[in-house]
Amino acid sequence: MPVLVLGKRVDAYPDIPPEAERGAVRRVTVIGEPILRKICAPVVEFGTSELAALIDDMFATMRVAEGCGLAANQVDVDLSVFVWDCEDDYGVRHVGHIANPILNTLPADRRNLVEAREGCLSVPGARADLARPDKAIVRGWDMHGNPLVIEGSGYFARALQHETDHLNGGLYVDRVPDRARKVALREMENNREAVFARRARIAAEWGK
Ligand code: ZN
Repeated sequence: MPVLVLGKRVDAYPDIPPEAERGAVRRVTVIGEPILRKICAPVVEFGTSELAALIDDMFATMRVAEGCGLAANQVDVDLSVFVWDCEDDYGVRHVGHIANPILNTLPADRRNLVEAREGCLSVPGARADLARPDKAIVRGWDMHGNPLVIEGSGYFARALQHETDHLNGGLYVDRVPDRARKVALREMENNREAVFARRARIAAEWGK
């Protein structure tokens, strides 16, 4: 499978990314917690061991929760950073992290909206249909302060938009019609304990 790490093609990348191997699993915040509604603080210090450790921990947490993207406020950290390990609709795997991302979408008349099922690790056990543009570009910085431009299509474009929303205090259910949102939140209430148990089992089997 072709792999793009930080937007650059590499020959191969381990199934379990080295970031995840190094990282520790943190608790995933759940809708209702105030940090998920904050505009996250920008990263101002790059190249620190704290930032590298946060990214490692986010990769480990994302893997245990079986997600394809995770924002820092989802591990209770008020910083504008998200990570991803996401296969798009074209069989390309995307892996990376970005700080202080700004989302660029096409102008409305050139946007192609695609509806798909979407879920969120912070709304555990729920999914809802949501239309989003099928292309997205985020611009930001890697952990060392180098500029990054990450382009996504299809499902990866959805992930880039979803994660940027998180860092602006948004959740995908905000974009879902009222009735579907209520259904999703009920689904969460019914399924959340099972989801937490599954994450705990995956973490234990992995030795984290
Ligand atoms: Zn989410």
